[in-house]
Amino acid sequence: MGRPAADRREDLVALYKEARGCTRCPLHETRTQVVFGAGNADADLMFVGEAPGFHEDQQGIPFVGRAGQLLNELLQEQGMDRDDVFIANVLKSRPPDNRDPQPAEIEACRPYLERQVELIEPRVICTLGNFATKLLTGSPQGITRVHGEPQERQLGARTVQLFPIFHPAAGLRTPSVKELLREDFSKLPALLAQPVPQAEAPDAGHADDQLDLFGR
Ligand code: URA
Repeated sequence: MGRPAADRREDLVALYKEARGCTRCPLHETRTQVVFGAGNADADLMFVGEAPGFHEDQQGIPFVGRAGQLLNELLQEQGMDRDDVFIANVLKSRPPDNRDPQPAEIEACRPYLERQVELIEPRVICTLGNFATKLLTGSPQGITRVHGEPQERQLGARTVQLFPIFHPAAGLRTPSVKELLREDFSKLPALLAQPVPQAEAPDAGHADDQLDLFGR
């Protein structure tokens, strides 16, 4: 059995307070504020995007710009809204000029995402675009090849369904990608209704491994 939701939520708030002052990578020098993530701390469905953009950096909330509006719309089409899910990013700080996240930044920020997954205990994690997909699948296969197909993965002590989909920003740029996004979103309710297989008990002899949620 997992820990009580109230305890996990309390730990998530403590993690947020820690992240707010984070100086683990140089992005702390240029960000306005940390964008930790938002939504239901006990959500079955979690979204992981790339990094905050201009509006997110200003407001401290993920996906509040145009890509976020599309995300809201796609959620609503499936009878959900942002309060039903938790939305986070690979990076918690905005890269200058919205450039791509650098490997060292991803590595520095990774423990926050790992801990978020551990505390929220989602059953399905939707990775939005290439950066989140490659990080969480641990595979170099890009989003065009893997979108719309769930992948069962062991993250820490739990089994989750990773569900890679295109980044909403790509949907804004290309109408055919928006249609693929819509199609992939329509698979979410059935995926969420599936029972999740029980994870194997962690090997007590490898306590260090258990701290490395993604097994690297
Ligand atoms: N794009 C992202 O990947 N994340 C956000 O929070 C906003 C735009």
